[in-house]
Amino acid sequence: MAANSKIEWTECTWNPVTGCTKISPGCQNCYAKRMARRLQAMGQPNYRNGFRLTTHAHMLELPLRWRQPRSIFVNSMSDLFHKDVPLEFIQQVFDVMRRAPQHRFQILTKRSERLLDLSPEIAWPENVWMGVSIENEDYTFRIDHLRQTGAKVKFLSLEPLLGPLSHLNLSGINWAIVGGESGPGARPVQQEWVTEIRDQCLSAHVPFFFKQWGGVHKKKAGRELEGRTWDEMPGSSKLAKA
Ligand code: SF4
Repeated sequence: MAANSKIEWTECTWNPVTGCTKISPGCQNCYAKRMARRLQAMGQPNYRNGFRLTTHAHMLELPLRWRQPRSIFVNSMSDLFHKDVPLEFIQQVFDVMRRAPQHRFQILTKRSERLLDLSPEIAWPENVWMGVSIENEDYTFRIDHLRQTGAKVKFLSLEPLLGPLSHLNLSGINWAIVGGESGPGARPVQQEWVTEIRDQCLSAHVPFFFKQWGGVHKKKAGRELEGRTWDEMPGSSKLAKA
């Protein structure tokens, strides 16, 4: 189901695909996996397969029924570019997003190779923000893949941040989000990793959003960095002011 989201950088979620498989260290404590198991236990029909990848054709047209403009995180419970999501289904998701220009759609993937491979098969609408997740220096190649796609707005989710990212190439990147891991077993983030990324964003004029310090008690840890919050977003689009 679609739901209002507590995620700081979006407003609601839309999950035409659910379920995933782990691919890199950032997946270790996957929130979606924990949540899918919980929803399965509660008898939610879309989670009858638990965390096994499942496409939901009946969910495709949902955003068309929402008239009020919203920021929508697409597939918070999966990865749209997972190998088991057929290209035709991905194209249907993009077609719905194109037909709902009142909304801003935010997609995140760790499957940047497939994103790049399929990019020529996708008609990239203006209202789709495409992002890749990077947890440490071993995965910065995902930024290079993203840069080569046809996405109109490109962003980075540097969360859960598990190590320093001292040499980011931010050319062609429109937004960076940073966050520490939260929840059971959270791996701690270091302040200097965060300030170093912020400083790279400032010098490259890339909007910087600091989501959270994380930890087991994420509310207590808060989201202030050096005495203030950082809530910058790509500002040129009309939707950003909606
Ligand atoms: S890619 Fe995302 S949804 Fe999939 S297992 Fe990793 S953290 Fe979870």
